[in-house]
Amino acid sequence: MTAARTAVITGASSGIGAATARQLAGAGYRVVLTARRKDRVETLAAELTAAGHQAEAHALDVTDRAAVDAFAASLDRCDALVNNAGGALGTEPVADGDPADWRAMYEVNVLGVLHMTQALLPALRASGDGTVLILTSTAGHGTYEGGGGYVAAKHAAHTIATTLRLELCGEPIRVIEIAPGMVKTEGFALTRMRGDETKADAVYAGVKSPLTADDIADTITWTLTRPSHVNIDLLIVRPRAQAANHKVHREG
Ligand code: NAP
Repeated sequence: MTAARTAVITGASSGIGAATARQLAGAGYRVVLTARRKDRVETLAAELTAAGHQAEAHALDVTDRAAVDAFAASLDRCDALVNNAGGALGTEPVADGDPADWRAMYEVNVLGVLHMTQALLPALRASGDGTVLILTSTAGHGTYEGGGGYVAAKHAAHTIATTLRLELCGEPIRVIEIAPGMVKTEGFALTRMRGDETKADAVYAGVKSPLTADDIADTITWTLTRPSHVNIDLLIVRPRAQAANHKVHREG
């Protein structure tokens, strides 16, 4: 068995996932980077390896159960699973939402977490000291107009965390949920706005200091590196300029 404690990170090709891979590698984890864009995770894994860390990359779509099972079977060890892959599509009100978008958001934000967690639970158990971390959102804790299928999906992801924590009680596995508010990452708003850069930029317009991917990677790393008996159930993390999903202070 590999000596180093191993963290699997989904969606490590961008934003919060990539920042988490960097910080967990810095904290001494062997990091296993996964995402659909293989070139990006390979580049980051090579960068981390060159810096003296243990890192490897795998192309993986978390909505593809067969691929997730094959990936899990290829792993020799897993101590932490960071379910980060996800995102939003569109800002339409419920009345106008496209069911295909809702389905896609459910697939990645909910079933993706389910697939990865089910597939890696045996290895997490075998580690004797495992952690499942789920990146939800403040959209999983409150609703807002135009939140649509993203709000619904992140509420579901939140309930996976709370249910799993109850079900695994007594086992050596922690279940942690991190729920960020507004984080300025390279992909989130652009994906939500379907590639429209002007609309994506408007999400952060006038907000003095939205959270960064590194801010969230810092909270993830902090929760994972607490002593094994300390389970940080839930962290809601917002920028100071955002008091609620719908209340954002904008300057200018
Ligand atoms: P991002 O830069 O767009 O990153 C999203 C990541 O998810 C990418 O690495 C992407 O990789 C991966 N991904 C998407 N679909 C996937 C799939 N089917 N299989 C595997 N990987 C997939 O956005 P981010 O802001 O870092 O978001 C990361 C997480 O934080 C998401 O769950 C998001 O919902 C959550 N979050 C973000 C914010 C925010 O304001 N930014 C706030 C709260 C919560 P590939 O495209 O290469 O597969």
